[in-house]
Amino acid sequence: MAESVIRGTPVSSGIAIGKAFFVNRSYQSLLPRQTIGPFQVPAEVARLKAAFAEAQKELVEVRKRMPKELKEYKLILDSHLMMLKDPKLVDLAAKYIRELHVNAEWALEKAVAEVDKTFRDIGDVYIRERIQDVRVVADRVQSRLIGRGAEVREAPGRYIIVAHDLSPADTVELELNKVMAFATVQGGKTSHTGIMARTMGLPALVGVAGLDTLVSDGDLVIVDGIGGKVLVNPDDDELAKYHDLELQFEAYQRRIIRSSQLPAETIDGYRVQVLANIELFEEVAAVIDNGGEGIGLFRSEYSYLNRASLPDEDELAEEYTDLAAIMAPRKVILRTLDLGADKFISTFGRLDEANPAMGLRAIRFCLKHPEMFKTQLRAICRASAFGNVSIMFPMISGLREIRQAKAKLVQAQDELRREGVAFNPEMPVGIMIELPAAVMIAEILAQEVDFFSIGTNDLIQYSLGIDRSNHHVSYLYQPLHPAALRSIKHVVDAAHEAGIEVSLCGEVASDPYCVPILMGMQIDCISLSPKAIPGIKRIIRQTRMEDCRALLKEVVDCRTVNRINRLVKETIFKRYPEELTFFASLLDSDELGG
Ligand code: PEP
Ligand code: MG
Repeated sequence: MAESVIRGTPVSSGIAIGKAFFVNRSYQSLLPRQTIGPFQVPAEVARLKAAFAEAQKELVEVRKRMPKELKEYKLILDSHLMMLKDPKLVDLAAKYIRELHVNAEWALEKAVAEVDKTFRDIGDVYIRERIQDVRVVADRVQSRLIGRGAEVREAPGRYIIVAHDLSPADTVELELNKVMAFATVQGGKTSHTGIMARTMGLPALVGVAGLDTLVSDGDLVIVDGIGGKVLVNPDDDELAKYHDLELQFEAYQRRIIRSSQLPAETIDGYRVQVLANIELFEEVAAVIDNGGEGIGLFRSEYSYLNRASLPDEDELAEEYTDLAAIMAPRKVILRTLDLGADKFISTFGRLDEANPAMGLRAIRFCLKHPEMFKTQLRAICRASAFGNVSIMFPMISGLREIRQAKAKLVQAQDELRREGVAFNPEMPVGIMIELPAAVMIAEILAQEVDFFSIGTNDLIQYSLGIDRSNHHVSYLYQPLHPAALRSIKHVVDAAHEAGIEVSLCGEVASDPYCVPILMGMQIDCISLSPKAIPGIKRIIRQTRMEDCRALLKEVVDCRTVNRINRLVKETIFKRYPEELTFFASLLDSDELGG
């Protein structure tokens, strides 16, 4: 038997067996508070200073190892280095050691709290956000103080990333080609850890309670991204069983990739467009390799994260133009900035909001920062001259926001016209349907735009009232909840009634249990992580539209999510047992029988 078997939520399929490496532990829970005698003070101050110096040395090494393509991330590391060199934080902590006679770890936490307080009192949003950087820097020093350093990072070979929470910023420091899998304490089914892992095609589990204390650096762990388990120091039988499963999974992957370039057409001739969701330009190759027919969601905010200053218009225009040109004549839907909520974790900081998910995020944030918004709009318009580009606004709650966003777009286009810069004046304009309010007035909104894209990650979060990154309520995330299903169907029907296209780009689009139901609704298009495309295409190609319609008819009449899940399981599992064995589903795995 393994030393411990911890359950978690699988968010990216696959099996990985390897050594654990902790990226960020919740240090606060591990820090001891100790009182020291006056004679110990000089040694404790020296220990603190040594930890700062070691952290600085470590960061210089990380910076050196960072690949060229991530040059913009170097800026953020530079700012962290500056903080480590700046005497303010270390002097403040040393002062607490001297005055309060506490250990270095505790003194440093107190110093961070003090800096936090000072930053919060400053009105400027940018300065306030820097507190997150101070936290990252302090954690690096804490890891030296409590004796957890870079020993595994320096070890040869590949490893499994174990973390309390993982933001896009944290992954910057990893040598990604050495990473085999992720397991985190925080995170829900549609949090960005999962999105990132799927993008990289690595197994991942979130919401794995107790990782902080049950796993140590260097432990042998199995991440079961199919069954939703982490096994710590497994025995030989477990190892043999999982080696076998890993081989089967790899063989399945090889089989599905062969048919990934074929169209997603059902046996009875119904065609669905299968597009890809990407975060960075570098993922274009994966889109094409996996049979993506275009880009249905470019999460443009990722190019704004992890850097000291905002990108300028030329930089953005170049990135978007390259994307449009490489994909042409295939479609590229560029979503305008969706900053805020869960897209700030541990680097750019959050605004001072009690409920960031319901705060100044996405289109609201852009309309409040018109200059920043205009820079992006102009860059998108410039790219539209070089390919099949559409623009999409996130988190629209009503007509007023669409009109305001469209007015800004027209302004940007007018400027470009005056300057003689080329753009496509017919560029399609769409919105994401992510709020229950938008669902309710979908008929009205459909009159204003060229297409809808349903963002179920947020739509389910807001409809069912569950924070998508909170593992405590992750069990309530039910994509086949009657309210979610009816909302999606309502939006699809409203779009078709108005004669516009409707797509779905939330994680539901990569769930084999959900896709046949979406097809029953006659969805025009789905957009998902590139790595999930081959499996979903294969399911579509084995499906009959007739059966999807019949399944939909049955599920919309169900009154409970359990009944729907059971029905879907019975019908779909019988049909594609192989596909379903290897997919991580958003549906409750116990409910589905494993
Ligand atoms: C969604 O909300 O479903 C979506 C696709 O957007 P994001 O995951 O980036 O919030
Ligand atoms: Mg969203």
